[in-house]
Amino acid sequence: SGRSLALTKTETDLVDIVYLDNHSTTQVDPRVADEVLRAMTENYGNAGSTSHRMGWAARDAVEEARETIAAAIGASDREIVFTSGATESNNLALRGILERNRRKGNHVVTVATEHKAVLDPLARLARGGTEVTYLQPRQQGQADAGWIEPQQVADAIRDDTVLVSVMLANNEIGVLLPLAEIAGICKERGVFLHTDATQAVGRIPVDVTKLDVDLMSFSAHKVYGPKGVGALFVRKRSPHVRLTPQIDGGGQENGLRSGTLNVPGIVGFGAAMRFACDELEMEAKRQGDLRDELYRRLMENVDDAELNGPILTDPAIRLSNNLNISFAGVDGEALMLGMKRIAVSSGSACTSANPEPSHVLRALGLSEDLTRSSLRFGLGKFNTPEHIDIAVELVTETVGRLRKLGNTA
Ligand code: PMP
Repeated sequence: SGRSLALTKTETDLVDIVYLDNHSTTQVDPRVADEVLRAMTENYGNAGSTSHRMGWAARDAVEEARETIAAAIGASDREIVFTSGATESNNLALRGILERNRRKGNHVVTVATEHKAVLDPLARLARGGTEVTYLQPRQQGQADAGWIEPQQVADAIRDDTVLVSVMLANNEIGVLLPLAEIAGICKERGVFLHTDATQAVGRIPVDVTKLDVDLMSFSAHKVYGPKGVGALFVRKRSPHVRLTPQIDGGGQENGLRSGTLNVPGIVGFGAAMRFACDELEMEAKRQGDLRDELYRRLMENVDDAELNGPILTDPAIRLSNNLNISFAGVDGEALMLGMKRIAVSSGSACTSANPEPSHVLRALGLSEDLTRSSLRFGLGKFNTPEHIDIAVELVTETVGRLRKLGNTA
């Protein structure tokens, strides 16, 4: 790519890092970065400029990416709205559908283990009068910990329910929720269904037709694309879902999301989805094997370690790249600080601005102490068997050292 800048001191320190935090974000695939760079430097027009070739070329690049992304999830290109990421997609979906359907009602059903990018917009809506029902997941210790029963959704729907919002894959414990069954219930009851599929897209096959969801949020930076770009799928046929826009301005994206389109980001998103589709099957298997190896050896080497969330042996209930373990008596923050070469997270990185223990693990019934003793590993396509060796060695050694020091949670 012709980059000639020397590495900064901080970047030099990053060279030997073992990155196992792929639920937080992923390394941009260098092939994606090349396409982004070209879009920035050569195809730099405004996709909204209709009067010259620079604008048309930018628009063509956006529409090509839109087609790729739509095809990857079984949607039509008119059903894709580009946003700044899954947080914005969730906000647009939740606020947009409720505002638009006020006459129908003002009740939402969701799950206690959703990402903050769903829970916080709903909390704000609740302050404005929206009623929210939070479903509680299966408890820790059960084979399907973190799962919810479709019947729970059916039981929670009322006459004034407008929307059900249930994530496809959890970002902390990797549990996969039964969206297709939930969709059947929502259809029958005439309720819209939104899913936050940020952790699922690119990792498991996701098809909006098979899932039959009305709205689906996802993001480029979880699939080796750039940060700051995402999409909302908005169903256009049976039913035609209508939303109230949350950002007004130039009328881009059919008026649903104004603002000059992020052409390089969108091009990168398209490229990332293309590679993700090609590699999905192989990578799910490869990362699953690495994850299983990491788990097996940690359990072998470390006493009092326990798996959080559902069993690892059923790929239908857990993402193959996810592992979440509590190390009783050890503070997770101290553990992470004690092994600087490994990038992992405790609880959710997205909430680590505040040191509250993970609401997901708490909802599974873990004690506050065990929650604070938990680490989340998220494998990705750039991980190697050597990374697993290093992680096993460092975690084993550091847990042992902290326990000896009596550095308890
Ligand atoms: N939802 C889930 C399940 C996530 O894991 C994340 C990222 N941590 C988000 C939403 C937010 O995505 P973005 O960073 O694209 O806003």
